[in-house]
Amino acid sequence: MSTWIRTFLHSTVNVVAAGLGGGFARAARNIRPRYDKKLSLRMVLAIVCTAGLALTSVTPTYQQFIVSRQNLYDIQQYRLILDTANLLAAERGPANIVMSEEPSLVSSGAKRLLELRNRIDAALAALGARSDAPWGLHHHQVPHELLAGVVEQLALARSKVDRIAAVPRALLKREELQDAIDSMFAVSDRFQPVVAWRANELVRHDTGLAAPVLVGQMLTDLRDYGGRMASQILAAVATGQRLPLENVIDSRQSQGRVLELWQVINNHTALYDGPAFAKHRTEIIERFFGDGLSLIDGLIGEGRSQKHYSVTATELTNRFVPTMRPIEAYRSEFLDAAVEKYVIARRAALITLAMVLLVTCAILAILSGVILSIRTQIFRPLLQVHEEVLRLAEDRPQVHKSLSGQAGEIRNLFGALEVLHSKLQERASITSKLRVEADTDGLTSLLNRRALDRIAEEWARNEAACLVLLDIDHFKRINDTYGHPTGDRVLRETAALLRSLTRSQDVVARFGGEEFAILAPGDDLPGAIALARKLRLAMQHKKFTTLEGEPLRVTASFGVARSGPGADAWSRLVAQADASLYRAKGDGRNRVRVAQPSFDVGQKVAASRS
Ligand code: GH3
Ligand code: MG
Ligand code: MG
Repeated sequence: MSTWIRTFLHSTVNVVAAGLGGGFARAARNIRPRYDKKLSLRMVLAIVCTAGLALTSVTPTYQQFIVSRQNLYDIQQYRLILDTANLLAAERGPANIVMSEEPSLVSSGAKRLLELRNRIDAALAALGARSDAPWGLHHHQVPHELLAGVVEQLALARSKVDRIAAVPRALLKREELQDAIDSMFAVSDRFQPVVAWRANELVRHDTGLAAPVLVGQMLTDLRDYGGRMASQILAAVATGQRLPLENVIDSRQSQGRVLELWQVINNHTALYDGPAFAKHRTEIIERFFGDGLSLIDGLIGEGRSQKHYSVTATELTNRFVPTMRPIEAYRSEFLDAAVEKYVIARRAALITLAMVLLVTCAILAILSGVILSIRTQIFRPLLQVHEEVLRLAEDRPQVHKSLSGQAGEIRNLFGALEVLHSKLQERASITSKLRVEADTDGLTSLLNRRALDRIAEEWARNEAACLVLLDIDHFKRINDTYGHPTGDRVLRETAALLRSLTRSQDVVARFGGEEFAILAPGDDLPGAIALARKLRLAMQHKKFTTLEGEPLRVTASFGVARSGPGADAWSRLVAQADASLYRAKGDGRNRVRVAQPSFDVGQKVAASRS
């Protein structure tokens, strides 16, 4: 920008330095649109570059915001699936109760079962429904065949549960009860691929989701397998039969799985730290691993050694299910914390995005403002100064524009321009006065010889001209007799006479001491002769007087010559007129003599053309 302004100022100053030369000024006048266009282009370029630069910081921030939104949505969706898995495991509790009790549709177990079934049906329907994700988000639709398998197995298991529930306890067969319980396990098993598919989708989308996804799954599994430990021995307890070895093995396997999961979860407490988690952990250890596991262990011992159990199946369920509550609370707390973490991340991303956008807009606005103010307060006024300088150079009238709102330096520049303007005007008037003075004869106010030479030389180079030279006769005598002031008076009156008797196109000048010249444009020699004769008579008859009022007789001799155009036409014209004048003097004065007509260069050319 500074180089550009330097160039601009340099060109403006050159206009002034060029001595107000018209050609340079005309060339410089074209500067305005050129620089205006250049500035506009550079303005646009600066704004586009800044916007591009801003885009490089806005884009990743925007993407980060989109990712955080998607992550929050995904983790919420994932939570719905884990909650469904948890409900499916939880349905086994009241199912076991209704199967172990005498048939009743109004027992608390039956009510709880109905309530859970409704919640599960609604949850499964929600998972299967085509959901449209909010604007800009991707929804991972659970594959239909996976959910269909779960629903099918659930219907089968429930029909088995209902059939067993309708059988009086006395007729209850352990194998049938076990079959119904296994069917309920199968529902959870069929749901596992749904959880796995969903977990896989999320981690594929963002590996950062792996930790909450896996821990959430482990906690859900912990609840599932915890429940299985009890369900796997329930059939024998309910029917009061000896506990089959395979049930012991199954329950122990579930127990092993639970211990493994707990070990892994416990090894990664950094993922879900905080006082609430610590409290839940202590409760899990005391109630589930303490009370719950010892209840199962005791019943397994009883079931292997005898057919008598210290608790009924309903008591087993009612005592064991509450020991799993801390696991559910822990799971719920963890998923809440995971969701909250993504809520915070999304909010932070939104704030960052808003700030980046705000700063970007502010930068662009400031830049545009600066550029516009440079344009209006510096560049435009500079161009205006430039225009004013050109006007000065070309002697055109100044245009005074409002200076309000312009920078102080620019106002100073305009002030300097004003000074320059008035100085130039002063100089122009002095110059013209000097020029007039230099060209004027002080005594007669006619043109002097130098001015005549300049004008006549220029004229005679291109055009024909006639010259009448006049010399006052015996002028020395007037001086000598009446004094110089009277001589001066005669000279002034002669000048006035010549001026009054010549045409406006004739140039009258004082040629020398008491000699005058009349340059008549054109080749009208007879006209020039007639003029000389008229002037001679006028001189002769004019009543000149001395300063004292004494009448004076003054005559003059005339030499007339004509010349065609030519380079040295003027000097030849003067020489010929002078020679004629000399002849007039020699012939006795007070007469007109005309130079012998002769062909000069210009006339020869004209003659050869015609
Ligand atoms: P001629 O008829 O041959 O021209 O005689 P002349 O006396 O006019 O010519 P000459 O050249 O001898 O004299 C010219 C005189 O004009 C001489 C000079 O003193 C006088 N003169 C020249 N300039 C001025 C002037 O400005 N004022 C006055 N008063 N006299 C001037
Ligand atoms: Mg003379
Ligand atoms: Mg004379």
